[in-house]
Amino acid sequence: MVSVSSPHFVIFPFLAQGHTIPLIYLARILWQHHLPVTIFTTPTNSPLVRSTLQDAAICVVELAFPENIEGIPYGVENTDKLPSMSLFHQFANATKLMQPHFEKALEDLQPVGCIISDAFLGWTQDSAAKMGIPRIGFYGMSSFASTLSAIIAIERPHALTTSIDEPFSIPSFPKLSLTRNDFMPPFGDLEPKGPWVEFMIEQSTAMAKSYGVIVNSFYELEPAYTDYWNECIGPKAWCVGPFSAAKPPAILAKESEKPAWRLWLDEKLMSGEPVLYVAFGTQAEISPEQLLEIANGLEKSKANFLWVIRSKTLEILDGFEEKVKDRGIIVKEWVDQMEIIRHKSVQGFLSHCGWNSVTEAICAGVPILAMPMMAEQHLNARLMTEVVGVGLRIVPCNGSVRGFVKSEEVEKKVRALMEGTKGQEIRKKMKEVEEAACGAMKEGGSSWKSLEQLIHGIRNYRK
Ligand code: UDP
Repeated sequence: MVSVSSPHFVIFPFLAQGHTIPLIYLARILWQHHLPVTIFTTPTNSPLVRSTLQDAAICVVELAFPENIEGIPYGVENTDKLPSMSLFHQFANATKLMQPHFEKALEDLQPVGCIISDAFLGWTQDSAAKMGIPRIGFYGMSSFASTLSAIIAIERPHALTTSIDEPFSIPSFPKLSLTRNDFMPPFGDLEPKGPWVEFMIEQSTAMAKSYGVIVNSFYELEPAYTDYWNECIGPKAWCVGPFSAAKPPAILAKESEKPAWRLWLDEKLMSGEPVLYVAFGTQAEISPEQLLEIANGLEKSKANFLWVIRSKTLEILDGFEEKVKDRGIIVKEWVDQMEIIRHKSVQGFLSHCGWNSVTEAICAGVPILAMPMMAEQHLNARLMTEVVGVGLRIVPCNGSVRGFVKSEEVEKKVRALMEGTKGQEIRKKMKEVEEAACGAMKEGGSSWKSLEQLIHGIRNYRK
């Protein structure tokens, strides 16, 4: 029986920026609840972990990443550095070789009250079970996306559709119109073959044995989907987010220390010109043709924009910055995204709808222009635009939810978000959602209570 008043939480994020960052914020939240926390990572990911932790007194344990894995170049310890996302499951499988070292380190840390680990590190469930420690998994997704993906895999409501764009509905959520195109493999198990699907089945089997699931969301945002998960799917989900609400505001750099983009945003604020923030996360692979089309759309929209971009094919944009100077800037280095979207000049976010970006937009009260690309981002886009009503959607030229986007569509939707009455309406709605998110995280709020219940359960956990 664990029953210590301050159980020690061990957190093991998956080795990808978009998976690591939210769990570091969660570590901060647990630390703010006066709990001892240790984070596991690898040497090259350690600087990201330590810098995101900021002032929090949290231990970091580094485990070596396995060497000589076929297809994975030496020194690559993060999916963001993979030459191609097609190597993802090889990379994820390689983490299993860390298991003996993880268990040895866990022994040294005992007593450990709970392991919170990424869903992609399903093997940690095995380690937890061996040592009698409860493991809580982390999907890094909304309840909406995980619930719908599970329903698709189990009930197969799409079975009778004859094309990937044919709408279908789910009996439990009849108002929602979905297509097979909303579910990119492996989400929803639409292609029941291949290494990705096998990998995901392994992870969900481990998840089913876990003590529960932690969700970077808050109950009021998606109550029906959270309830459905807890009543019909499981294991128990705790919505204890949005985690980024725990990120302290950036310490204001002296004027002379501010990066150029920060000075530019300050100028736009002074002149009362709203700015659109444009960023597609850390994983998206965008074709040069698509990049150019986005750039042309931004240029034609006449909106002010700050575009953070780290594509391998940036040459296609040669000369673009010159054409839009004064009105748009491109930033190629790593930035503090939260600092950008919290800046008062930023009034819209053209986003790929990675779940972290969505929750960060919510915490900043900035409406979304959704241009999803992969994984469960199409579902996040539906949630934001159709269910919650805090975003507009960019529609590909084939009319489907997936496909090539033309510059005219980018221009039209940027104008609608930044200038139109629809844009004003959703901005107002996003402010309400931001308030609800802050309320959920405050003492007595739904996420705060949910975390207290989780901690209580861990304190009283019996093997
Ligand atoms: N991010 C950042 N600076 C950058 C690029 C990304 O801080 O220059 C952060 C962003 O704030 C978010 C995460 O990286 O927390 C990206 O996660 P998301 O789920 O939005 O997208 P992914 O990268 O997983 O596709």
